[in-house]
This record gives sequence, C-alpha cells and structure tokens, in this order.
Amino acid sequence: MVADPATSLLGMEYFCDEGDAIWSGSDEALIGLASRELEELKLRHGAGIRDACVIRVPMAYPIYETGYRDALEGVKKHLARFSNLQCIGRYGMFYYNGMDHSVWTGFLAAKNILGAHEDLWSVNMEATGNA
Ligand SMILES: Cc1cc2nc3c(=O)[nH]c(=O)nc-3n(C[C@H](O)[C@H](O)[C@H](O)COP(=O)(O)OP(=O)(O)OC[C@H]3O[C@@H](n4cnc5c(N)ncnc54)[C@H](O)[C@@H]3O)c2cc1C
Repeated sequence: MVADPATSLLGMEYFCDEGDAIWSGSDEALIGLASRELEELKLRHGAGIRDACVIRVPMAYPIYETGYRDALEGVKKHLARFSNLQCIGRYGMFYYNGMDHSVWTGFLAAKNILGAHEDLWSVNMEATGNA
C-alpha cells in the first residue's frame, strides 16, 4: 500500500456525532490529537509522521431501529423472487457485517453463481440477532 517499505500507513478512528467537538475540530487539531495518542500508546516509537489527513464520514454505521427485523424480512421476501440477484456486504444486506462477513458473502455469492445454494443471509447471524 505504501511506496516506501520503510513507512507504514496507519488509520485512527474517532467515533463521534455530527456537530460535536471531535466532528467540528479542525484537521490540524485532530491530527495533533491522533499524534499525541499514538505517542501515549507507545505505537509511534519516536517515528515521524510524514503526512496526515482527516476524513469525516457521516452516517458511517447502519443503525438498527426497533422492529427493523420485520421490515428487513419483507425486503428479503421481496428480493427472493429474483433468482439472479445476490445480496452481499453490509449495505447490500442491511446487516451489521464486518469486513470478513462482507467478503465472505461475496465469496458465497460467487459460489451460487457457479451453481451452489448457499444462504447468504445466514452469514453473521449472531450480530443481527436473527439466529
Ligand atoms: C468507520 C467504520 C469502521 C469499520 N471498522 C471495521 C473494522 O475494524 N473491522 C471490520 O471487519 N469491519 C469494519 N467496518 C465495516 C466494513 O468496512 C464493512 O463491513 C465493509 O466495508 C462492507 O463492505 P461492502 O462491500 O458491503 O460495502 P462498502 O465497502 O461500503 O462498498 C460499497 C461500495 O459501493 C459504492 N457505491 C455505493 N452506492 C453506489 C452506487 N449507486 N453506484 C456505484 N457504487 C456505489 C461505494 O462507494 C462503495 O465503494 C467498518 C466500517 C466503518 C464505516
């Protein structure tokens, strides 16, 4: 991922609400905060930071509402009519999938296209509480 193998790329995530102090902080202040925390966590080992940027991602997480399962069941039932449609990933399934689940559903979808009958909706059951 990086041109110079002596360097590494590091992402720091700060969870916040739109408009709060973190969200509204300047890029400079947030980069300063992350740098200090890397130092405190002893993850920098004195290494310099060559470059940094801040990306604010609104609505980053799917939020389940009470009763969402019933609504989702309706969507799933409707989509099941399309035999050539595979729903995968986090947003494609409205499941709180991690990266591994998302990739796995893509893998199973590919198998289905090749003739398998994998149930993609059974991936990550525990997180959705559908088990
Ligand atoms: C802040 C944050 C932190 C996370 N941390 C972790 C973690 O530590 N570990 C972990 O396992 N998972 C983590 N995840 C979850 C992980 O990122 C997702 O599970 C995974 O990226 C979902 O993959 P996906 O392919 O379903 O969707 P995405 O990776 O979101 O890909 C969907 C793609 O479709 C594109 N797209 C959307 N609409 C259209 C359109 N109309 N036309 C064309 N393209 C479109 C988007 O631009 C995007 O590139 C995190 C997610 C977030 C938001």
